[in-house]
Amino acid sequence: MAQFFLATDRVADFVAHLMAQKPVFAPHPKGRRSYAFALTEQAADVVLDYPRTLHSVKKYFLPPREELLTFDLTANSGAVTEPEPTDAVFLGVHSYDLAAVHRLDFSFGHGNPERNYLTRRQGALFIGVSFAPDRFHFSGSVGIDPYDMTGCDAFLTKLDDGWVLDVLTAEGEALMDGFDLEPFTGTKPPRGHFTQHIYVPQAKLGDIMKRSHDHEVWAETADDCVGCGTCNLVCPTCYCFDVQEHVDVTVTQGSRERSWDGCMLRGFSEVAGGEVFREERAARQRHRVMRKFLYISAETGHPWCVGCGRCTQACTAGISIVDIVNRLVGDAERTAVAPV
Ligand code: SF4
Ligand code: SF4
Repeated sequence: MAQFFLATDRVADFVAHLMAQKPVFAPHPKGRRSYAFALTEQAADVVLDYPRTLHSVKKYFLPPREELLTFDLTANSGAVTEPEPTDAVFLGVHSYDLAAVHRLDFSFGHGNPERNYLTRRQGALFIGVSFAPDRFHFSGSVGIDPYDMTGCDAFLTKLDDGWVLDVLTAEGEALMDGFDLEPFTGTKPPRGHFTQHIYVPQAKLGDIMKRSHDHEVWAETADDCVGCGTCNLVCPTCYCFDVQEHVDVTVTQGSRERSWDGCMLRGFSEVAGGEVFREERAARQRHRVMRKFLYISAETGHPWCVGCGRCTQACTAGISIVDIVNRLVGDAERTAVAPV
């Protein structure tokens, strides 16, 4: 592993060097206060020091809407729509978002591997970037450090006057070929502190979740929740989708599409006959939180929440997943020490 210094005034040249080799997806300003990953057209538009993007890089591997196949009844024919490998550089990815990609790799790769996601994942190179935790981040509580380089080909750590560039893989090294860099000989600054915490390790959280099925927090949260599904749609580890067929006015041609769906939406659990098996918002909230901290975690040993804070920041009702979990933790610990 080699370490280099990248001065602030050379970042645009660095981005341009990457763009000369592959498409570069990176954070860009969106509106006055937000950031979004986008295909880079101007190197100077890329922002490396940002709190979080509206959506994670998941959208490139699992697009919000995608065509699965087309059909034509007049010709009695159909064709599966072939996905393309991404084959691009993802620059400026925070550690929790890359951890989320690894969780999706598991979700789409085990059991019956899902072709579209796995094809799009091919050829993706990642240049991570450090972040300063804000009032919504809590990835430290789920074992993801702001300087975590797991899965990166290269990683940028912020300094006052530039960045430390860690080159981590042969692919990362190849990307840097031809770009003049000086070695970094200093010391990285300490990581920023998290202000949001889950007050118990994951090893104990599973048991607490199992004992919390009938906790009043689900109903209390449901009183505020409007069932908008935003928390699902911004989550980098949510992967539920709906599949619909669209037929043209002649009822002879059409396509099958899949699009993001979410367990907080009433229609998500509607089945044939109009039955909705999670009609109550309390049941939907419990399901969402259990999916993050119990159901998949029991199989993998890892929380399926990466602590990005998007769901809390975006919630129209101000509902915090950290507050929900800590309420369960606090009540479970009180019960555990209560005299009998
Ligand atoms: S549950 Fe919320 S905090 Fe956790 S990964 Fe999803 S959006 Fe981020
Ligand atoms: S974003 Fe908030 S209000 Fe909307 S469904 Fe999620 S918890 Fe409910």
